[in-house]
Amino acid sequence: IPIERIRNFSIIAHVDHGKSTLADRLLELTGAVSKNSGQAQILDSLQVERERGITVKAQTVSLFYQYPEDGQIYLLNLIDTPGHVDFANEVSRSLAVCDGVILLVDACHGVQAQTVANYHLAKSQNLTVVPVLNKIDIKHANPDRVCKELESLFEIPTSEVLKISAKLGTGVPDVLNRIISAIPPPKVNRGGLFRGFLFDSWYDKFRGALNLMYINDGSIEIGQDIQSMNTGKTYPVKSISLLRPGEEPVDKLNAGQVGLIGCNMRSSKESIIGDTFHVKGKPVEALSRFKPQQPMVYAGIYPADQSKHVALRSAIEKLVLNDSAVTVTPDSSPALGQGWRLGFLGLLHMEVFCQRLEQEFSAEPIITAPSVTYKLKLCNQKLIKQNGSDTLYISNAALFPEKSAVEEYYEPFVLGTIITPSEYVGPIISLCVDRRGQQLKSVNIDQDRLLMKYILPLNEIILDFNDKLKAISSGYASFNYEDHGYHETNVVRLEIHLNGRPVEEMCRIVHSSKAVQIAREMVLRLKELIPRQMIQVAIQACVGSKVLARETLKPYRKDVTAKLYGGDVTRRMKLLRQQAEGKKKMRSIANVRVPHETFIDVLKR
Ligand code: GDP
Ligand code: MG
Repeated sequence: IPIERIRNFSIIAHVDHGKSTLADRLLELTGAVSKNSGQAQILDSLQVERERGITVKAQTVSLFYQYPEDGQIYLLNLIDTPGHVDFANEVSRSLAVCDGVILLVDACHGVQAQTVANYHLAKSQNLTVVPVLNKIDIKHANPDRVCKELESLFEIPTSEVLKISAKLGTGVPDVLNRIISAIPPPKVNRGGLFRGFLFDSWYDKFRGALNLMYINDGSIEIGQDIQSMNTGKTYPVKSISLLRPGEEPVDKLNAGQVGLIGCNMRSSKESIIGDTFHVKGKPVEALSRFKPQQPMVYAGIYPADQSKHVALRSAIEKLVLNDSAVTVTPDSSPALGQGWRLGFLGLLHMEVFCQRLEQEFSAEPIITAPSVTYKLKLCNQKLIKQNGSDTLYISNAALFPEKSAVEEYYEPFVLGTIITPSEYVGPIISLCVDRRGQQLKSVNIDQDRLLMKYILPLNEIILDFNDKLKAISSGYASFNYEDHGYHETNVVRLEIHLNGRPVEEMCRIVHSSKAVQIAREMVLRLKELIPRQMIQVAIQACVGSKVLARETLKPYRKDVTAKLYGGDVTRRMKLLRQQAEGKKKMRSIANVRVPHETFIDVLKR
């Protein structure tokens, strides 16, 4: 197929606006899958996606379509993307190989925070935007209002907006035709040397790492040897397939196409998203189509017991291959043993990663509370020397230096966009104030909806901001954020002491204005969580030598068999055994036995 008859595009939208449903219709209309295949959201193939009903991974599919205007067959490569802010990495990775996007907007709910973010992302990469309103079949849909929003926010003329129902299929053929008429063919060079851009990969038990590649120049055939620009390693091309959406083997790919390449890549570490490949011995200039995002949130991950260490390591390695935004460094803790510190783009990203570890690799790790990375300016000469500079980046509260060693503290901030019906503005402003937010702007986007911009500390939004926002706006407000750099701050290290002994894993960094409140919450929670002991336990929350909160746990011996009157010996034995097993999973701190789960539970708000 000649270059002029190829289109590479993506569907971008706020979550739930119907991307995956539209993708299903496009697959059916082009015959890639049969109608009424009985399966909805075909491209959401991961178990976690089906359960949560959201797209996590961008998926790619090649469609063949006969364009009614000229009767010719076109190749359309569709890249479905996730809508949630935590997966923006997947979106920009997908956009890197596209020439245009379908901007899909729900005709009932209108433009949302991610619609705005995705639109600007597409524009910044000079992509053609095809505006489409979806769900016009719904009774209270208001396409005219949403068209006005598109005009006032993005200057999109109403006459250009397509109106469809992805669910019923109404207007979907127009979308296909518009893709061909509005989006330009890929800007590639078929005559040149082979140059491939690796933009996704996943692990196959039998074939090793499989690489999804965009052919930027030249062509590639089975049997050729390709070389990675990042590692310099060479691989024989063993298999090439189009995804339709199942693998369909082909012998050759030409510039402008997207295909899956199997090349005996054994270690998942060798497959680097954003890498450029060329034919062995014929180097080319590296492509820089995609800038990976830095993680925003860090958490410790540990095997439930150390015998599972090796299995967990291999599971993490394989999953990271399929989720290149996650960073991994080794870590250890006295209570939890050897583990890793992982970096994520956000909390949902972290939850989804852990759920995938469990579902796809049957791993059951322990995850510690997430934290952001603080930036410290040191003033202690010894520490400066040790660190190699007076600037220290640190996310692990246990390793935070003494206050006297630090001159200035900085914490990461984000620029948040909130779009909401005006009736919820009051509670939303209160929420932002409570989270130390600072309003930059507030504008009407139509009669009854507002767009607000806030600068907020990342630390205040990673755990539950989005949930709270949804709760106070009956689900109508939407939120998105981008990095806003480091701002000077005033934080303290809050320590938990049990009978005078500090518990390293429970210490955390908090803003000084919130220390007392969090200290109270933590000691009260610990009092609930720690089982009573033979001895009295003093639970204290301290900053430096100052005690901010204290609770006392009364002594008590828990006799699990007390309520069993005589009789059943086996049952009695079983209970005693269970109690002994329960004890094994405890950690002893100053003679206080603390169950493993407590370390995690206490940090949840
Ligand atoms: P995504 O998150 O953007 O991929 O959205 P989905 O494709 O998963 O769709 C979200 C929900 O909207 C699903 O329950 C769909 O059935 C529904 N939906 C999608 N398109 C339409 C439509 O045109 N009309 C109606 N009534 N519902 C739709
Ligand atoms: Mg989806």
